[in-house]
Amino acid sequence: MFVAHFDVDAFYASVEIRDDPSLRGKPLAVAGSSRRAVVLTASYEARPFGVRSALPLYRAREYCPELVVVPPHMEKYRIVSREIFGIFARRGFPVEGLSLDEAFIALGDLTFDEACEAARAVRADVFAATQLTVSAGVASGKMVAKIASDSCKPDGFLAVARGDEAQFLAPMPVGRLWGVGPKTQARLEQAGITRIGDLAKCDDVTLRELFGSWSAHVRDLARGVDTREVEPERETKSISSEETFEYDVRDEAQLITLLREQARDVAASLMQENLSAQTVGVKIKRANFTVLGRQAHLAEPTRDPRRIFRVAVYCLRRAELDGAPVRLLGLRVASLVPGAPKQAALFERQDGGARKLNE
Ligand SMILES: [Mg+2]
Repeated sequence: MFVAHFDVDAFYASVEIRDDPSLRGKPLAVAGSSRRAVVLTASYEARPFGVRSALPLYRAREYCPELVVVPPHMEKYRIVSREIFGIFARRGFPVEGLSLDEAFIALGDLTFDEACEAARAVRADVFAATQLTVSAGVASGKMVAKIASDSCKPDGFLAVARGDEAQFLAPMPVGRLWGVGPKTQARLEQAGITRIGDLAKCDDVTLRELFGSWSAHVRDLARGVDTREVEPERETKSISSEETFEYDVRDEAQLITLLREQARDVAASLMQENLSAQTVGVKIKRANFTVLGRQAHLAEPTRDPRRIFRVAVYCLRRAELDGAPVRLLGLRVASLVPGAPKQAALFERQDGGARKLNE
């Protein structure tokens, strides 16, 4: 059983360059225009300057004064994404989307050579249909396949044969392992463990001191043993949290307090489903049973509870209740996209590790 990981190179930037060839060859960043905007995607020409995803835009301009900044066109990226996922699905293998431009494909019981052949064909099909390059990795498990495709970007293909996983991983920094975030990496470096190979041959006692009950799993990953299956997406169209009050509520502060909780609920569900949302709305049932809804479309997808909360409050205010009694309040997010939002480059997982976002 082999798994392929596909990741379009500098997706947003590549779409912009494709559609405006005058941008080709220039250091380019796709970024919003707010004061706190961060780089969503940097072209490969911008990267030698240190411009990368999640870098604040003002900093990116300092690093690279000639940086060309293009605003994001999310609707267009979604259309291209659907086209690419159509190609991913064409051969009938299970597809697990990780973001708009990144997916795992389970290659069933193909042999290694057949798996490589299939992955190369998908790369060629995506390029033929979209003029975008997608890098691919093939391996016996998801993590090694992803590390392989990350290592051969842009426009690359790298396959790791069964049995070669540990050797492939050994020279890489420990931070490349899933679950090893910057904090864990620093702790490992203090213990003299800098390469994945160091971790793979680490003794049980040290490993248990470092990772506790998680240590066996970490050693497996360090050796490239990774049995997680490709999980095709479930269809989730919206996620909501609603509350019917025992008594009608007129107090806006009370409604806002509830929205804060609901935003936390909904954000937790998004995290659990590995989704982000681009539409946030509220549903209000008044005491006279009329229902009204207000929603807002965000410039970029999010799953940040504070952001969802702020937008929900804005929607609530737009409903202009003026103290009208409310029987039910709901918060709903929709326009769901797979994966974490691009602007949050790192997030700590509950198990204490962190996972780096792809580009
Ligand atoms: Mg990508």
